[in-house]
Amino acid sequence: MRTPLIAGNWKMNTDSESAAALASAIAARAGEFSAAELLVCPPSIFLTSVRDAIGGAAVGLGAQNMYHEPKGAFTGEISAAMLTSINATYVILGHSERRHVFGETDEDVNKKTVAALGAELKPIVCVGELLEEREAGRTAEVIRSQFEGSLAGISAGDMADVVIAYEPVWAIGTGKVATPEQAEEVHADLRKQLVDRYNAELAESVRILYGGSVKPDNAAELLSQANIDGALIGGASLKADDFLAIAQASSATV
Ligand code: PEP
Repeated sequence: MRTPLIAGNWKMNTDSESAAALASAIAARAGEFSAAELLVCPPSIFLTSVRDAIGGAAVGLGAQNMYHEPKGAFTGEISAAMLTSINATYVILGHSERRHVFGETDEDVNKKTVAALGAELKPIVCVGELLEEREAGRTAEVIRSQFEGSLAGISAGDMADVVIAYEPVWAIGTGKVATPEQAEEVHADLRKQLVDRYNAELAESVRILYGGSVKPDNAAELLSQANIDGALIGGASLKADDFLAIAQASSATV
């Protein structure tokens, strides 16, 4: 049984006051959603104030990115150990905006994944095809290659702490959501890759999230698919009611 993970990626949104207010609003009602694991990923500058606003509520804290080196002359970067030192437990890696706006490669994502796991930080490793790749019938090939590259050399023991997020690039922030069938096809293929590389038991335990224009009105259908184990949510995670409505939809499917 995989507990659905409902993760909010706030991206470069909110400010000091609104980040704490959003976290407080989510924390206040978190107890209603015990069938799902809730996670918020604010901008790194607000991680500690969001942590404080969450207090003892059952809402996890995650970062949106990190650098693979442990410390040193890497101006502007933050390390995995810095994140764990402020009680973050997850980090989003290889988000399509990191890949396509900032040029991150599978190799970069792999180094970060290894570093996160080494610091006991759980990586949410994102994969997803561009619209032209889908239209050219290359979705499976692209996802397989990102899976291989981003997760190269990860042992079975470490893979148990990894979350995979399938986020078709054409569905992120566009309002164009993948159909449940389109998403499930990719998720099932990712699960098969986990079976092939590791074993069926491990593959059954790894959570594979869907991301890309998830909203309260489309969440239930997506989350009811056999291999969709939660959601990575951008826009809709900026409103506590919408984020929690998606958590509610996931609770209804378990
Ligand atoms: C995301 O940022 O990972 C995302 C899926 O964004 P949105 O929900 O806005 O499409």
